[in-house]
Amino acid sequence: MKNKILKEYAKLIAKKGVNIQKGQEVWITAGLDQPKFVEMLVKECYMLGAKKVVVDWQYDKLTVLDSKYMSQEAMNEMPEWQIAKMKYQTEVLPARIYLDSDDPDGMKNARQDKLANERIAKYAIRKPYIDAMDNKYQWCIAAVPGREWAKKVFPDISVSKAVEKLWEAILYTSRANCNPIENWIKHNDNLHQKCKLLNSLQLKYLHYTSANGTDLKVELLENAEFLAGSEKSLQGIEFNPNIPSEEVFTTPKAGAVEGIVYSTKPLSYQGALIENFYIIFKDGKVCEVSAENNEELLRQMVSMDDGAKMLGECALVPYDSPINNSGILFYNTLFDENASCHLALGRGFSNCIKDYGKYTQEDFDKMGVNTSMIHVDFMIGSDTLDIVGETRDGRKIQIFKNGNWSI
Ligand code: ZN
Repeated sequence: MKNKILKEYAKLIAKKGVNIQKGQEVWITAGLDQPKFVEMLVKECYMLGAKKVVVDWQYDKLTVLDSKYMSQEAMNEMPEWQIAKMKYQTEVLPARIYLDSDDPDGMKNARQDKLANERIAKYAIRKPYIDAMDNKYQWCIAAVPGREWAKKVFPDISVSKAVEKLWEAILYTSRANCNPIENWIKHNDNLHQKCKLLNSLQLKYLHYTSANGTDLKVELLENAEFLAGSEKSLQGIEFNPNIPSEEVFTTPKAGAVEGIVYSTKPLSYQGALIENFYIIFKDGKVCEVSAENNEELLRQMVSMDDGAKMLGECALVPYDSPINNSGILFYNTLFDENASCHLALGRGFSNCIKDYGKYTQEDFDKMGVNTSMIHVDFMIGSDTLDIVGETRDGRKIQIFKNGNWSI
């Protein structure tokens, strides 16, 4: 890919993605396989006035080794320096950039049971810091094509060609192949208008039905709004948490969903693919799951904590989205979620609550914003998905018809 285009993309992430403020620290999480793009991105961050840019390098293969050879006890330890790091982040509030280049199957040989135990043990220590930082800083997830990932998406061509093709697909779907900054100003405007319209309807329920058997009724929160595209941190700084982003989403009422829902795309969770699955909800919680592939992992996912059995997101994405129209299955949630209506199990979004700055974490819990150590999106959109909304005064409004917006 041409350097000039990549530079523009790096600038898009730094400027529209996290919107770095003069003198702000930036923390980038990136795969070890992406030194060139990370170097470009770091430079763009400094050009925008970043005070300091820190890169946290990740390498899945080391996590796999740790999970095999480290004792559970050693994995569960949280040393003082790691706690100090979280404390520092809570105080300094750096802008956070997550560059995703992961192999969708990269963790398939890991001991997922031990990793899940580790996550549960550490969550108790991490939670106060996560809550304290919530909504206070800018963050952005964007993607760069890793070799293994590209090979998975385009298995029939050489690796270097696959990487190039995945670059093209990432830049196209991220509206970053030409004038990205202007594109995103327009795109954000369109998404915000859609939110305004949806919020004016005062919806109480969303009822999903589809030819694949999905029949699910989700209750929404009275004081929650639909959000999309750019958001504002509590400091009033506008940022785009996801590049790409096509979804209009809200946080549903925790523990208020009934019915059955079928997945329409594989779910990449903890570096392994869960495929062809369904979930049944009863009394607001997951009561049954079934998957053709990695069912055990799905079961483990919904057992991480109580909140993992409840919904934390309802996102509306037309079937006719640029990502879906590309015809590519990305095996990566950032892309596949933006190609399809989806739900998430786990933590909800407190910033969907009107005037969220006024409330405490306890208030959000009481209102029914779900809390959990996980937030996992799964895709349910198809060309036969219908969604009927029911307003608070009992009117029924068709929101989606055959997978696309009908309002
Ligand atoms: Zn989403």
